[in-house]
Amino acid sequence: MKAFVDRDTCIGCGACEMTCPEVFSMDDEGKSVPVKEDISENLLESAQDAKDDCPVSAITIN
Ligand code: SF4
Repeated sequence: MKAFVDRDTCIGCGACEMTCPEVFSMDDEGKSVPVKEDISENLLESAQDAKDDCPVSAITIN
């Protein structure tokens, strides 16, 4: 499974980094970027939580 962030949609709230810092990190422009190519099994649940909690639905996991 991989995580993607739509940078045009991301509003830079930082929630995903708070929920799952192993997968999401804020970059210099204040947007979220996935820091991992592949999401390991043990991180999938928190990555999904981050996706579900994104206020603008900018995160895709597939
Ligand atoms: S939760 Fe959504 S809007 Fe907030 S930083 Fe992450 S991707 Fe961007």
